[in-house]
Amino acid sequence: MQAKDLNRYLGDLGWRRSPIPPELKTSPGVCSTATGETLDSLAAIAAGCTLCRLCEQRQKVVFGEGDPKAGVMFIGEGPGADEDRTGRPFVGQAGKLLDRMIFAMGFDREDVYIANVVKCRPPGNRDPKDDEVAACADFLDRQIDLIEPEVIVALGKPASRRLTGTSKPMGALRGRWSSYRGTPLMPVFHPAYLLRNPKAKREVWEDLKLVMARLASTD
Ligand code: URA
Repeated sequence: MQAKDLNRYLGDLGWRRSPIPPELKTSPGVCSTATGETLDSLAAIAAGCTLCRLCEQRQKVVFGEGDPKAGVMFIGEGPGADEDRTGRPFVGQAGKLLDRMIFAMGFDREDVYIANVVKCRPPGNRDPKDDEVAACADFLDRQIDLIEPEVIVALGKPASRRLTGTSKPMGALRGRWSSYRGTPLMPVFHPAYLLRNPKAKREVWEDLKLVMARLASTD
């Protein structure tokens, strides 16, 4: 798509028509016009996003995937190398474990929605920086608004901290209900952490059982 066509398309979607000024590229909180009407249109906006430095090295934007009306939404921190290459969330080793966790809950991957706090890969798999999380915030919020999940499961520290709005350690956050903009939120250890610390799988299972009980109670 040519730049002028993209600008017109973004304008039709209520997005800014003019190119994003360079001084906004790494500023936090400038993504406030991410007003996609549908997940597809929001994904199209994200595909051209240059709101933070992560756009510079990405191969693909990893928007998220799954049932657009899923009852459960899993939110991780950000794409790794496999996700960056394929454009799909959680397809590496951690993703295989997440698939098993989802299956153990009685779902298939297609039944849930999987997304990340940031949609582009942080170089070297570092944690996303605060301004990168802020730049992506409206994309995630809009995604949640469109999906309207019954429960959000935050995977790991960056997602749990972003969604609870605290900087507490995972040990203090996991297994405790809070809510994110009115949606029940359960932080659990990240599958990549479980690959390094298999003993923590027991705690994650306890936390996921709380999620399953909550879902059953809202049927
Ligand atoms: N880790 C994440 O947090 N997200 C992915 O998509 C993959 C690995």
